[in-house]
Amino acid sequence: MSLAIATLGTPRIGPRRELKFALEAYWSGRIGRAELLETAAALRAANWADQAARGVAVIPSNDFSFYDQMLDTAVMVGAVPAGYGWTDGMVSLDSYFAMARGVGGEDCACGHPGHGGGVPALEMTKWFDTNYHYLVPELGPGQRFVLASTKPVDEFREAKAFGIHTRPVLVGPVTFLRLAKGAAGFDRLTLIDRLLPVYVDVLKLLAANGADWVQMDEPVLATDIDAAARAALIRAYGLIASAVPNLKVMLTSYFGPLGDNLDLAVSLPTAGLHLDLMRGRDDLAEIGGRIPDGKVLSLGVIDGRNVWRADLDACLDLLRPIVARRGFDHIQLAPSCSLLHVPHDVEAETGLDPDIRSWLAFARQKMDELAVLGRALESGSDAVADALAATRAARASRLSSRRVVRSDVRARLAAVTLALAERPAPFAERAALQRQRFGLPPFPTTTIGSFPQTQDVRRARQALAKGAISEADYRDFLKTETAACVRWQEEIGLDVLVHGEFERNDMVQYFGEKLDGFAFTQHGWVQSYGSRCVRPPILYGDVARPEPMTVDWWRHAQSLTDKPMKAMLTGPVTILNWSFVRDDIGRDAACRQIALALRDEVADLEDAGAAMIQIDEAALREGLPIRKADRARYLDWAVESFRLTSSGVGNATQIHTHMCYSEFNDIIASIAAMDADVISIECSRSKMELLTAFADFHYPNDIGPGVYDIHSPRVPSVEEMAGLIRTALGHLPAERIWINPDCGLKTRGWPEVQAALANMVAAARDLRQAT
Ligand code: GLN
Ligand code: ZN
Repeated sequence: MSLAIATLGTPRIGPRRELKFALEAYWSGRIGRAELLETAAALRAANWADQAARGVAVIPSNDFSFYDQMLDTAVMVGAVPAGYGWTDGMVSLDSYFAMARGVGGEDCACGHPGHGGGVPALEMTKWFDTNYHYLVPELGPGQRFVLASTKPVDEFREAKAFGIHTRPVLVGPVTFLRLAKGAAGFDRLTLIDRLLPVYVDVLKLLAANGADWVQMDEPVLATDIDAAARAALIRAYGLIASAVPNLKVMLTSYFGPLGDNLDLAVSLPTAGLHLDLMRGRDDLAEIGGRIPDGKVLSLGVIDGRNVWRADLDACLDLLRPIVARRGFDHIQLAPSCSLLHVPHDVEAETGLDPDIRSWLAFARQKMDELAVLGRALESGSDAVADALAATRAARASRLSSRRVVRSDVRARLAAVTLALAERPAPFAERAALQRQRFGLPPFPTTTIGSFPQTQDVRRARQALAKGAISEADYRDFLKTETAACVRWQEEIGLDVLVHGEFERNDMVQYFGEKLDGFAFTQHGWVQSYGSRCVRPPILYGDVARPEPMTVDWWRHAQSLTDKPMKAMLTGPVTILNWSFVRDDIGRDAACRQIALALRDEVADLEDAGAAMIQIDEAALREGLPIRKADRARYLDWAVESFRLTSSGVGNATQIHTHMCYSEFNDIIASIAAMDADVISIECSRSKMELLTAFADFHYPNDIGPGVYDIHSPRVPSVEEMAGLIRTALGHLPAERIWINPDCGLKTRGWPEVQAALANMVAAARDLRQAT
């Protein structure tokens, strides 16, 4: 037997986003079902063939999805809520897409399928602490489960016909139930006995078709789980082992150490267990003598979530003792998690600086790294001497590059004192000075920053990229757009204006492109959800700001009006959380570097005359570690980074921040510690519910609870928004309240934005008169 190389899942969108384009063409009716299915089958076949060619022996099937693996699982077990056109039998592709996208609603660009009319899509939320989003299955107490999709079996057979024997992947039953949602107080895990027979059916079908192994993903094992989840895991895997004895289960958990769940994971009656050795290195030492001899250990030694070439020497040092102990038969080498979270292929990045490119490994290169490790362990390092030498050289070049480690940045970071992260005066004093300075009416109105990015704006940006228009023409065009936007805001009577962000392609990419230390790929797309892909910046080196990034745009916009023009920046935590981050220094240090660069931008804005500066932290919550015990530390450095960015200004300069999510209970103390003078939050869909978190905490600073749901084209009436503000008044003192939409308006069209904002201003005026 030789040492088996395994993958737990591969990028599914296609090297050139073929699946995205096919899906969108199908949804818009440009291609038919047959063509969509053909594209998908070709992508799967190419993926299987590529893995086989790269020496992967344990190749997954059913890692493909038309939209999302959690949705696939919900459909497999017939958990299809009413309204999506399914009653019994197999779930059709159209019902499947209806669950993903809603019926009669529309997509919105800030991350969530719309809720405008029709039957809404299932809710979507983040897959653990990745930037992948899954659809949240809805389960009720009377939930029935039936086999309603044989996708895992179909794809196993498809691979078999293609000549590849695969290990199918399923989301495990306990993770499925844990991540689903039900009515408040309803414990979904009580459904395990009803759910398991469907899993057993699928597993029996797989075995009958020739599968010998199956991969069951139970990443709940990397979370803080309670006794009920433990009991459900014991029950599920006990039943599966006895009901389908001829199918071996590789139990996989990832995104963190098993930690206190390690004994449980080892004791479950599965033929194999996977360890995420990137985040759970200690598990390996712990597991030592506890693992039964016959159990196969899958060792996740290559980072499935980041883009750096591995330190293969260090991997070998880690692997050699355990391989010596257990022998080749009972070890597999794997990435730490599915490769879904990294781009396809570094080779495609012909535009990248060659040095930087040599430091990277995407999905394909990670498989090659595993193959090198396998050969080194089997035949000795000499057999792969060249590959090991190349890795060493690339690593050495990265660690010694002057673009990676900059003494000026390091010196500055070392000199940071706590005082730098402290505004000169407490909020009450600042608020008094700011009130005098701005003389705003009660319930001041503003927006979150972006205004509609029309076809024209996008076309101009593309024309610039293609060289069809000059940089000067492009800037002139943007200046005209900005001027029109400013004039329009004045006309409808907003109190605090913004420039509209027309020059920004994306709130993180825009800053990444202007800062030293970030690189951008051409094809480094990663699925965010469904057909939506993101191309995260790669933070590879120490961060510095060669020159001001936003000051000219702000100055231009302010020159057009006497009203306060709020400047707009993306915060350090959000830039970090939406990038691939270097692994040679801690996330905290990397974040502080970004914070210091942004601090200079804040200072330049203030010098240029900006009196209000908004620093968006849309992704602060997203970075929360999976385990509760790790959260306080993250929040500490995240808040400190924000404060480093924002605290260099005078007391009369007003710092705003914005966060677009609707859960604050568990982080409210940290939000308060950020000490922004004004925070705007998403609130309209929760009907101001989430303000209770702020009220209960006695949150002291100003708040703009969103009164206009920008996820939908629907125009809320004056009365509706006034009603929401009145509800807010039940939670917060009137003098602390600002009036604004839930989030930026870049994904909306002008007609609805005009109508909605006019109504919003009218609602604020009504309230001013009434109070
Ligand atoms: N200022 C950004 C905008 O208005 C904020 C976006 C966000 O929070 N996602 O688009
Ligand atoms: Zn937002």
